[in-house]
Amino acid sequence: MDSQFAFRRYCLAFRHPVRTSHGPWTEREGLYVRVEHPDGTVGLGEAAPVPGFGTETVAEDEACCRSLGGRLGDDAISRVPGHLRALRNALAFAIGGSADNPRHSSLGMAALLPAGRAALAEAPPKADAGFRVFKWKVGMAAAEDEMSLLDDLIGALPPGSRFRLDANGAWDRRTAEKWLDRVSERPVEFVEQPVAHGAKGADDCLVGLAADYPTPIALDESIAGEADVGRWLDRGWRGYYVVKPAVVGDVRAVLARLAKAHARVVFSSALETGIGAQAALRLAFAWQGKALSLGFGVWPLFSDPRFDGPAAAPFLRIDDVNRINPEALWSAAS
Ligand code: MG
Repeated sequence: MDSQFAFRRYCLAFRHPVRTSHGPWTEREGLYVRVEHPDGTVGLGEAAPVPGFGTETVAEDEACCRSLGGRLGDDAISRVPGHLRALRNALAFAIGGSADNPRHSSLGMAALLPAGRAALAEAPPKADAGFRVFKWKVGMAAAEDEMSLLDDLIGALPPGSRFRLDANGAWDRRTAEKWLDRVSERPVEFVEQPVAHGAKGADDCLVGLAADYPTPIALDESIAGEADVGRWLDRGWRGYYVVKPAVVGDVRAVLARLAKAHARVVFSSALETGIGAQAALRLAFAWQGKALSLGFGVWPLFSDPRFDGPAAAPFLRIDDVNRINPEALWSAAS
C-alpha cells in the first residue's frame, strides 16, 4: 500500500555566518520529507546538501519531491536520481526509520574553535568545561602565523588535549609538507583535507603525504560520494574518513563497507538541523568500529534555536539524541 508523502523547504539564518573557502555562508537551506505509512506511523528525514560539496542543490531536491507526488510506493527511492544524495538519505530514513541499535550510551565530542587568533580566547573555557579534543580551522592565514598560534593554543590547554586541524583543502603540497613536518611532534590527532580534492594528482598527493609523515591525514571533501569512499578503500587508505552522513551517498552501505575495512571514521556535522542530526548521530552511536570524538560540536547554530541539535558538550548521550522531536521541527518549518 502507498504511503502519504509531503515535504517542506526551509531557509534558516545561522547565528553567525559560517566561514568557508567560498566566502561567508549566512543561511542554511534544505528540506524536510515526511512519510505517513498506511499503519499511521510517521517518518521524517532531512535533505541538507552542502553548497560547494559536489552534491545536489536544494532546488533540485525540491523539484524531485514535487515529481514524486503525494503518495509513495515501494519504488520511491529508486525514483530519486543517484546524484541527489542528500535527498535519497532523507527518504531512506523517513521510510525505513533511523533507529539502529546503539552500541554506546555516550560519545566524546570535539570542541569547535573559531579560525585564527579568536581560538586563543575560546579554547581555555572549553577545556574548563571538559573538552579535550579541539577542532581548529587552518589555511585561513599565513602558515607561519597559524603554526605559532597552534603552539600558543597548545600552551593554553591542559596536557592531554589533542587537535584536529582542518585545512579544507587550502594548502598546496609544499605548505602541507611544512605543516605535517611541524605537527609531527605536536598533539595533533589528524590533519584534515590538507590539499584540495578533485585537482589532477590530488589523490596521489594525499597518499604521498600520508606515507611521508607520521601524523594521520583525514579525508573530508575527498569522500563526498559512495564511489569516492570505495575508491579510497580500494587504495588501502589507512588514514581517517570524515563521514558527514547527511551528504555521503547511501550512507548505510558506505558505513558497512568502512566497518568491514576497520576504517577509522569520524562522524561529522553537515550543519543540518535537528532532524538530519538525529539520523546522523544515531548512525554514529550504532557504529561498530572504534568510537572517536564526534564532529558535532556546532550547536547553538541557528538564529531560531528550535532547529538546533543538542548544545555542544564534552560528551553526548544517546538520550540527548533521542530527545530531538522531528515532528516539532516539521511544524516549526511551516
Ligand atoms: Mg572538514
